Amino acid sequence: MTELTGGPSLPQERRVVTAIPGPKSLELQARRTAVVAAGVGSTLPVFTTRAGGGVIEDVDGNSLIDFGSGIAVTSVGNSAEAVVRRATAQLADFTHTCFMVTPYEGYVAVCEQLAELTPGDHAKKSALFNSGAEAVENAVKIARAHTKRQAVVVFDHGYHGRTNLTMALTAKNMPYKHGFGPFAPEVYRVPVAYGYRWPTGPENCGPEAAAQAIDQITKQVGADNVAAIVIEPVLGEGGFIEPAKGFLPRIAQFAKDNGIVFVADEIQSGFCRTGQWFACEDEGVVPDLITTAKGIAGGLPLAAVTGRAEIMDAAHPGGLGGTYGGNPVACAAALGAIETMRELDLNAKAKRIEEVMKGRLTAMQEKFPVIGDIRGRGAMIAIELVKDPATKEPDAASAAALAKACHAEGLLVLTCGTYGNVLRFLPPLVIGEDLLNEGLDIIEAAFAGL
Ligand SMILES: *Cc1c(COP(=O)(O)O)cnc(C)c1O
Repeated sequence: MTELTGGPSLPQERRVVTAIPGPKSLELQARRTAVVAAGVGSTLPVFTTRAGGGVIEDVDGNSLIDFGSGIAVTSVGNSAEAVVRRATAQLADFTHTCFMVTPYEGYVAVCEQLAELTPGDHAKKSALFNSGAEAVENAVKIARAHTKRQAVVVFDHGYHGRTNLTMALTAKNMPYKHGFGPFAPEVYRVPVAYGYRWPTGPENCGPEAAAQAIDQITKQVGADNVAAIVIEPVLGEGGFIEPAKGFLPRIAQFAKDNGIVFVADEIQSGFCRTGQWFACEDEGVVPDLITTAKGIAGGLPLAAVTGRAEIMDAAHPGGLGGTYGGNPVACAAALGAIETMRELDLNAKAKRIEEVMKGRLTAMQEKFPVIGDIRGRGAMIAIELVKDPATKEPDAASAAALAKACHAEGLLVLTCGTYGNVLRFLPPLVIGEDLLNEGLDIIEAAFAGL
């Protein structure tokens, strides 16, 4: 096997030796601008050479603390040992046959793992795809085939991808949808239990929001027209919104009572990210279908729909698939990632990250009233910034300024939220506690300098 130069062997330290981005990154950025479409953005244009553990090393020799994990993907760390070992062996054996032409064991083994790890003890089946959006599209196809209904219900602040159907399912216009219509029909959006911004307060939010959502579904769509209700158990791009307690179980029960397929989109929240294998476990919700991607394969492209066998089997043979879906190298990587999650008990690591982060952020909130809300679970933590804690007016400018200040100091952070005023923290679950605290020191200093 080739010697690892990145991955866990990379020195776990922050090192800022040039401006960020440095001169070599700026040269590459100029080449990029000439040939890469402007629509494809980058949070921070430092060009990567190696990454692993909790750091990203760039072409100028800087080493950044990683609070992004490539958007919740490298939860097991970059180039994790088991991922490299298994994917490398698979690369040497064969790279592709197409599972729809001649199958291979790795695909089946990933589906076995998904059946074991996802909530519920019913019989389960899976289908594998390349991207999260593709998984969500297929969940809708399967739900429609099963129910013989068309409507799909989604939620305020929801994010489900960038393909035509998933743009329709996504709430936010800019940048995801603007100018890209017309969108797929039969998509209906209802309120979500956003505790921090609920008019009657977070304690009433779960039941009230559920009642509103259900009222809209029954009055405006008709429950018996609805094929699927699709929701992120912790909303990702929309601002790391944890639906207020009681909301998810109530919606899941409503779906069950009305023969609607309840789909949990765990593409961002799944695979130990929130300190549980899947975020819907927190309230004991057992979805009919669950979509996964991001964290599943340690950085290789893989996605899945997993669910009740009788629903998954509703699509006719040949109705699901794709040339690359469940690519053997990606499947090998997924088996390596899952092995790592089990061996290192990454759920426990995520919970510890939550404890450290929330402790530090709560102390910061006392000093900096711009921090309106601290929320999230495990290593999926966010702070929502406001101009005034009383009015809760979103403060996107401070979020942008804070991210910029962190980047200059060698800490990669991401923003999100419908109002662009949320800073989200998604460190690799294998990050060392020293680096985690050093990152939080940088955030604290950035607040002080606002
Ligand atoms: C990222 C994401 C998607 C889309 O996944 P892609 O792999 O980018 O297509 C869908 N749903 C959620 C919740 C996501 O976070």
